[in-house]
Amino acid sequence: MRIDVFTIFPEYLAAPLDASLIGKARAAAVLDVRVHDVRDHTTDKHRSVDDVPFGGGAGMVMTPEPLFAAVEAADPPRPILVCSAAGRRFDQAMAQELAVADGFSLICGRYEGIDQRVIDDLADGEVSIGDVVLNGGEAAALVIVDAVARLVPGVMGNAVSGVDESFSAGRLEYPQYTRPASFRGYDVPEILRSGDHGRIERWRRAMAFHRTRARRPDLLETYPPTAEELTAAAEFPDPESP
Ligand code: SAH
Repeated sequence: MRIDVFTIFPEYLAAPLDASLIGKARAAAVLDVRVHDVRDHTTDKHRSVDDVPFGGGAGMVMTPEPLFAAVEAADPPRPILVCSAAGRRFDQAMAQELAVADGFSLICGRYEGIDQRVIDDLADGEVSIGDVVLNGGEAAALVIVDAVARLVPGVMGNAVSGVDESFSAGRLEYPQYTRPASFRGYDVPEILRSGDHGRIERWRRAMAFHRTRARRPDLLETYPPTAEELTAAAEFPDPESP
């Protein structure tokens, strides 16, 4: 999979993209992440990438020329998505859509944002990581690359560990424990040490269901409970509800 990122702060992205699983996947050529410095495509001696907004108002707007030039020089994979608080809300479903493509590209804005012609005439869409305003698209791009990359086969060490996770079937993840079994008097639930894999599986489904109902009831609307899940939830009641 190839992912191209266009930014005026390539150094912002360098260390995170070299670390951990993404760094290893890049080294192993499972992931081809290319970061392009938009300033390399300016033509004036100040290498300027922004200008005052038509119509007035505070702040500066990124100009179209260097962004068009950077994208045209790279011939990057599509879809080309502009990071924007006004974009489609990024979620696990969108991560999955991007993970099955051969690649995609991200344009990072700065200042007050990007000239609309980049969005209308160069890019294929806009993506937001949530209802917050960031200083720039770089942190958003890192979130998106991170979430998509871990769904690409060969990026995560243990391929099964993605299957069971939060949102994989519209549920939050069940609580997880590791050693020691007893820590400062706080004990791991006995059932997880019972060796009864059928019961453990039902307990986990029940806990995931109770958590989702308490914290994210909207997910239950979108992904209604299954009969098996309700049976498990009846067998193992919510430990957090009185
Ligand atoms: N004036 C803009 C905010 C500009 S913030 C507005 O009101 O929406 C500068 C840049 O940060 C944006 O161009 C965008 O690339 C990025 N950015 C800010 N919030 C974001 C979010 N929630 N998701 C993705 N990118 C975001």
